[in-house]
Amino acid sequence: MAGAGPRFTGPISCGMAKPRILTGDTPTGRLHLGHWVGSVENRVRLQEQYDCFFLLANMHAYTTRADKPAEIRRDTLEIVKDWLACGIDPEKSTIVLQTEVPAIAELTWFFAMLIPFNRVMRNPTLKTEIETKDLGDSYSFGFPMYAVGQCADILAFRPELVPVGEDQVAHIEMCREVARRFDQVYCAVDPQTEDSDYPARGGVFPIPRALVGRVGRLIGTDGRNKMSKSLGNAIFLSDDAKTIKKKVGQIFTGRQSLTEPGDTRNALFDYVRIFIKDEARVKELERRYAAGDNIGDGHVKAEVAEAIDALTAPMRARRAEFEKPGGDEAVIEIIRAGTARANAVAEETLYMAKEKMGLGFGRRVVR
Ligand code: ATP
Ligand code: MG
Repeated sequence: MAGAGPRFTGPISCGMAKPRILTGDTPTGRLHLGHWVGSVENRVRLQEQYDCFFLLANMHAYTTRADKPAEIRRDTLEIVKDWLACGIDPEKSTIVLQTEVPAIAELTWFFAMLIPFNRVMRNPTLKTEIETKDLGDSYSFGFPMYAVGQCADILAFRPELVPVGEDQVAHIEMCREVARRFDQVYCAVDPQTEDSDYPARGGVFPIPRALVGRVGRLIGTDGRNKMSKSLGNAIFLSDDAKTIKKKVGQIFTGRQSLTEPGDTRNALFDYVRIFIKDEARVKELERRYAAGDNIGDGHVKAEVAEAIDALTAPMRARRAEFEKPGGDEAVIEIIRAGTARANAVAEETLYMAKEKMGLGFGRRVVR
């Protein structure tokens, strides 16, 4: 049938004017404060200097929630609304839907052949997720595969930087190993080459670096685990003032092995240091709390809730624009436009990789 299936033409090139960034989020819920301090704050800041690609990792949401497609679809749109609320500007940055970028799925296969199975299963972030998300031993085959898929998410865009929270550093390390291996095996790059020189020595892939945010691992309101969409311990960027107050009120400050009454090494004081902007006030709260100076958890929590509300109120206001009728359609249009642009880049990467792999049979155009 005319127009159906891939078309092939000659190679086209796409210059790299600005260095690229790739990062993203899995649509398993809305964005929370951990996303902001761990990664999104950096993304907003770096939009001007870098050509940014922000990926909606919806395929990865299916690895643990394959039976909940309606929720994944809803969360995909919610995450874009959160990004826009945070200040990600689709005029400057490219919003990408993973499942509409076929090159990512294809690169995942090729990369899966370059990394030993046991190496994937030793990834500490995967191990922690299996434990904290209670996945037991019956998780899907696709679950560990997402770690390989993430190498493809990143490398499809040949970025320099990947702004992420601390839990993702192990994934980025794996991605760096895969990139080196590909370049050594298929592009004859000498294994002694410095990471920064791989493209100059003929490698298809740069060796991207993780950029961890100002707080690499924000603890959740349970005072124990990383704040996570999936663990019920998150304060969402879209939570209203009342909900923020309630959730901050639940922050666990029970004295764990390390802490004594007045000890500020607890989750609540992490929040004080992270979200209260006024340094002098932070010092004052620490001093009075440590001295038992007529200041308890309740008072500190009220100030923390106020600081969080001050940070997120403007985000909620921007988000409200997309919660009006027609908001979902506007978001879908942003996703479509971004994904079309992303496909041009990812297809070029796949073309370059296939050429080096002995699979160069002409250039395909995905429209
Ligand atoms: P899930 O529970 O589904 O794994 P999540 O809350 O861990 O969701 P992700 O989509 O996996 O969120 O992570 C998106 C980005 O946000 C990653 O770069 C991750 O490192 C960062 N991030 C997530 N949670 C935190 C946190 N608590 N502190 C700092 N960074 C975080
Ligand atoms: Mg996660």
